[in-house]
Amino acid sequence: MKSKKYLLTFGLVLSSIVSTYFVTVSTAQQGATQTQIQTVNNDYQINATLFMQKAAEYRALCFQAFYWGKRTLEDDEKSSGKLPKTERRKPRAVVVDIDETVLDNSPAQAFGIKNKLPFNLKDWYAWGEMRKAKAIPGAVEFANYAKSKGVRVFYVSNRDEVQKQATIDNLKSAGFPDISAENVVLRQTESTKEPRRNAIAEKYRIVILMGDNLNDLSDVYERKSVAERFAEVEKAKDFWGNKFIVLPNAMYGEWESVIYRDDKTKATNDVKRANALELP
Ligand SMILES: [Mg+2]
Repeated sequence: MKSKKYLLTFGLVLSSIVSTYFVTVSTAQQGATQTQIQTVNNDYQINATLFMQKAAEYRALCFQAFYWGKRTLEDDEKSSGKLPKTERRKPRAVVVDIDETVLDNSPAQAFGIKNKLPFNLKDWYAWGEMRKAKAIPGAVEFANYAKSKGVRVFYVSNRDEVQKQATIDNLKSAGFPDISAENVVLRQTESTKEPRRNAIAEKYRIVILMGDNLNDLSDVYERKSVAERFAEVEKAKDFWGNKFIVLPNAMYGEWESVIYRDDKTKATNDVKRANALELP
């Protein structure tokens, strides 16, 4: 009996030592991760973020984009009789990106500017968990219109799968109709959206693709230079405002990263931005 008691005491002491060790180590690791996030000066993003939050012009551009979405669905309804039978029989769908297309994350961008933080997953996930992103102007009305016409809306985003429930909750509370695990399609492994678009196109006829990033529309824009992106946009000029609808986002995006990628020097990003400016 006595030996059992000693064994129990020994076990408790040992487990307390072990757990103290792991708590200390993991706290130290968390501290290390936190101190690894170096502060940065994001002031160059202030104007773009204010444009999104304060410019009535920004809101007008969004309403304009969704107006053309509605017009495209109306026109498609009238002209779909001319399509081949296999296409005509498929139910219709609209594919929209989420961030800066139907949900506004400018408060998260503003937080990064104020606190001098670079984009990092810890803060990004924390913002997503708040479920506080507001709808982009005109987006909810457009989604409801699509639904009223029997058009399925797919939300194809590069948010991570761990953010799925928070994203679904946020979309629902912002007023989007018909939100489910099936039509909120997040990133699994790769960031390209082409396989996800193709999977939707097997069952649906995609009438419109909407996004703030050209990669939301087609893979022809991926991994291209500024000049190549310009050329591709020119090639698709009959699609803008109908099959392809773009939302304004000057805060961040492929348009920005391509500037850094094109400049092969070892200069910092702020130098690369300045060097990319076209002068008289
Ligand atoms: Mg986006």
